Amino acid sequence: TPDLKDAKVVVYGLAKSGLAAIRLLTRLGARVTALDARGAQALGDTARELEAQGVTLVTSPPPPGLLESQRLVVVSPGVPLALPELQAVRAAGVPVWGEVELASRFLPHVPLLGITGTNGKSTTTALTGELFARGGRRTFVGGNLGRPLSEAALSPGDWDALVVELSSFQLEGIDTLRPQGSAILNLTPDHIDRYADHAAYGAAKARIFKNQASGDFAVVNADDADVMRLAEAARVPVYGFSLTGRPVASAPVLAGLAVARPGGFGFTGVGEAGESFTLTNRALRGGHNAQNAMAAALLARLAGVSHEGVQAGLDSYPGLPHRLESVRVLGGVEWVNDSKATNVDSVLVALRAFTRDVLLIAGGKGKGAPYAPMVEEGRGKVKTVLTIGQDAELLARAYEGAATVHPCGTLAQAVRRARELAVPGDTVLLSPACASYDQFQNFEHRGDTFKRLVEEL
Ligand code: ADP
Repeated sequence: TPDLKDAKVVVYGLAKSGLAAIRLLTRLGARVTALDARGAQALGDTARELEAQGVTLVTSPPPPGLLESQRLVVVSPGVPLALPELQAVRAAGVPVWGEVELASRFLPHVPLLGITGTNGKSTTTALTGELFARGGRRTFVGGNLGRPLSEAALSPGDWDALVVELSSFQLEGIDTLRPQGSAILNLTPDHIDRYADHAAYGAAKARIFKNQASGDFAVVNADDADVMRLAEAARVPVYGFSLTGRPVASAPVLAGLAVARPGGFGFTGVGEAGESFTLTNRALRGGHNAQNAMAAALLARLAGVSHEGVQAGLDSYPGLPHRLESVRVLGGVEWVNDSKATNVDSVLVALRAFTRDVLLIAGGKGKGAPYAPMVEEGRGKVKTVLTIGQDAELLARAYEGAATVHPCGTLAQAVRRARELAVPGDTVLLSPACASYDQFQNFEHRGDTFKRLVEEL
């Protein structure tokens, strides 16, 4: 652990992670300068609190020489490492660390489980945390999701395990961070804005393996050819999970495998011979959640959590809000909040979790992708579509001949209409395929509004 007493440190980026890093650094006695594109005025209370802590506030871009005069520069995940001033300060020999790297330096003796991928990171992180907790470990759950890792570093003695969601941006900023167990869930095109191409995005994810060493392990999606290619970079035993039981042909020889089967999944090469788990928790329905559950169970078992602990956690996991969240069963009709589904791909994932009789509430600020794939996926399952928001007309056209469409305009009207139309056995699913900004502050606001409306029925 570095001694940062009286060291000059810049923290670049004052969102949640940057502010947590500042709390850690000031506790360690560092002399902190905070850098952000927003000035003191725009930062408001945050600026006043920082000044009260003795932190100097500077508006970016940094004045010449500021970064070069530091012992260390800590960067929030929202700030690209490719910025010219960061490249320059690195070249000048000043270390540039991401916030998770900083935190990990002060947590050297606590096993860290790192989870990345394009989709399912938050679910798998929260679930893995539940499995560790039910296995009796004092577990910190955070990273990209929820609490920044620097919060764990404020009291390192409190933790037996750190279960950490790692975005590709965070992985770019690691240097020595070493997960005991790493997981890559999947890799689909994303963040094109910040990466030159798919290969560069994959390379950022593969950094999760770079410091792993003897005694560590990796968990990967054995059905995903791109992920399996990345796993070639792992120098530790690689364990796979698969929905099919027929992993893609791949270079790394798998040390063990989890395979889905009806009602649960089984292990080979992990734990006791023929070990298996049941998966009946409603918060984990759908094939995508079977993948998330297998990844979490592998991480936990390989880190020594008991079979009973893992099974108990799979059963008790409460789910994250806005992701296929069961709100209420009313008169035999289940109401499900999937407000997090802001694009067509996420709606496909949601629809695969249902077999029949769905009333779908969709619409909002569309992203320009065609709706045809969700119409196809919903054939025979989606009988009614209730449209809201800006893209209502486009959705109605896409569903012509495939389902009955009711233009509702607002979410309140859609809920009222769905209540009239639904019969016992139906599912009313809010999975909008669109951003929410035309009618709501964000997807959480949309989901919370839906839940309130449904509770009031
Ligand atoms: P992230 O933190 O990576 O955004 P979440 O757990 O919040 O992931 O899930 C976001 C959305 O991604 C879900 O609403 C669902 O549509 C989809 N999803 C979740 N898990 C998976 C998975 N394993 N594979 C593909 N899509 C998934």
